Amino acid sequence: MSSTRDRLATTVRRGSKLLDRLAPATSGLTILIYHRVGRRTDVVVDLAENAFRAQIELLAATSRVTTLADGLNADPASAPIVITFDDGTADWGELAMPILVENRLPATFYVSTRFVEDRWPFPDSGAPISWAGLAEMAATGLATIGSHTHSHLVLDRAGAATATDEIDRSRALIEDRLGVVCADFAYPKAILGSPAAEIIVRRTFATAALAGSRTNGSGTDRHRLWRTPITVRDDADAFSRKINGGLRLEGHLRQARDRLRRLSQ
Ligand SMILES: [Zn+2]
Repeated sequence: MSSTRDRLATTVRRGSKLLDRLAPATSGLTILIYHRVGRRTDVVVDLAENAFRAQIELLAATSRVTTLADGLNADPASAPIVITFDDGTADWGELAMPILVENRLPATFYVSTRFVEDRWPFPDSGAPISWAGLAEMAATGLATIGSHTHSHLVLDRAGAATATDEIDRSRALIEDRLGVVCADFAYPKAILGSPAAEIIVRRTFATAALAGSRTNGSGTDRHRLWRTPITVRDDADAFSRKINGGLRLEGHLRQARDRLRRLSQ
């Protein structure tokens, strides 16, 4: 990473901490986004196994972690936490799930099914997990498998036919290969779908998730859930802020940046 980007990240984090002090987060459901564990690649969302383990142990100690379904029905004042993962890499079964099982913590895993079905590598050298690996995870009783479209297509420009194809294929594969009900969805790149795509998402799934780094309060739209991404840049201090609804400014800025990038494509 360039030193300019480093400096910018430090400045943004400092500003986010200041805003947290000035305007403390309201309590509610915090949903965390993980991607990869094991640092097999150098992407910022690929966490070292030790760092991930420390975070999961800390989460277990809070006794606030619950399933997505239970978290949405819980009193927001109890500040429940839900763990989610996006994409579908092999490290889920090999490294992440055993640590979750050791700590008896549930998580929702959103899979882009084409990578699993066609044995396609994810960008940045991400080896896909197998259906057998996902089945083993589901068999622990702690993993809920959700959809992340079929080919990780950002749905913001998708017409009804494309969105239907991406969503139906993904859901059908998950249900057929794993024998589970697929009721949860996460938008790729956490970018909201086109109006046509969103209608299909709302019709197909019980929940849908974006990003946004803020808590979900009592009036939460279950098809536009806020989630807080965790990256290698999150030290213990940043992590404990994030699980308490902090560092919101950072989330807002990241969303604004992603929208701008998307517009310029
Ligand atoms: Zn993704």
